Amino acid sequence: MAVDSFMTTWLDSGNGLWMEDTATDLLLTKALPRIQFRRFTGSEEASNGADWLWWWVDRDGTCFGLLVQAKVLKLLRKRWSIDFAYKTKNDDRTQISKLLKASDQFDVPAAYTLYCGDVDYRASIECDRIHQEQVCKERNRAGVAILSALLAQNTVALYGRDAGVPAFHDAVPLEDIAAPATPDVPIVPLVKHVADDLAGYLREPQRGARRVAKELLRPVQTTRYGQFSAATMRRVTSASEHLFEEVPDDRGHFPVPYYVHLLRGLRSQPPDYVRAVLEGRPLPSWLAQSVAGIVVIPDADAHDVTAVPSQKRAARSSSSKPFPSEPVDRTDRTDRTPKTGG
Ligand SMILES: [Zn+2]
Repeated sequence: MAVDSFMTTWLDSGNGLWMEDTATDLLLTKALPRIQFRRFTGSEEASNGADWLWWWVDRDGTCFGLLVQAKVLKLLRKRWSIDFAYKTKNDDRTQISKLLKASDQFDVPAAYTLYCGDVDYRASIECDRIHQEQVCKERNRAGVAILSALLAQNTVALYGRDAGVPAFHDAVPLEDIAAPATPDVPIVPLVKHVADDLAGYLREPQRGARRVAKELLRPVQTTRYGQFSAATMRRVTSASEHLFEEVPDDRGHFPVPYYVHLLRGLRSQPPDYVRAVLEGRPLPSWLAQSVAGIVVIPDADAHDVTAVPSQKRAARSSSSKPFPSEPVDRTDRTDRTPKTGG
């Protein structure tokens, strides 16, 4: 992928720092041909990676929003690190808590885009765990990966300055989120007695915006299983625009209840500012003041390539893209997902 090799070249040239925005530019212009995006001038946060709002929008209007901040996985003095715990001058709050706070404004979850370079760049990462038959650091799709802010917070709490490697391990390759080539295996909730619609969502294969949310939820749920605290059985009722009316209030060791946080990004209809992007209308000024830009992925449910031929999937090619520019075969026999939810 273009971003991986760019990143390696950039780091080799000694310009190791503040490349988040450059990498984001490249991702938006080269690697993701089908998206629409608007960049706002005025929100200057270039040195730390600015917040971008991402929305995946299905053909039926179902959509998923995510507030994203870019970070680079860097090798500093033999330590793989990501500056999650970065604090700005005269402000004690970490960037993670600020990002979580900012995501409340949009009622979407928060996450990091991790730029992790190519396989050669990551050669000295010490993580030999396996992901779908690939050694962690050799995952050729992991050059750009997404990590929920809840997991970022969790890894920083557990590993401090050594959070880089576990964060990389927990991050989901953007390609696996945007154009998953693997089956959507069920997520088993820790909480018993979830509402029927949510239980079905977790159990049945999903596509499009629903799948994006599910792939972000999956590693969070896995991590929650490793936290030794009893699950809360309480459910909370969410706002009417949310796809799921009732979600578990369980929190574990995360800063906020994780189902509430992750699933609030799933809506039955896009917010007006997202429609404005799609229709080419002017955007509200409050949006431009709050984020560096907005990315909209239209027809998100048409981009899934869940029925990739096996030889294609096995090929260790670096030319695969998150959003194929070739038309995608939509006759997907493995897809059992109903067109509309509820
Ligand atoms: Zn790993």
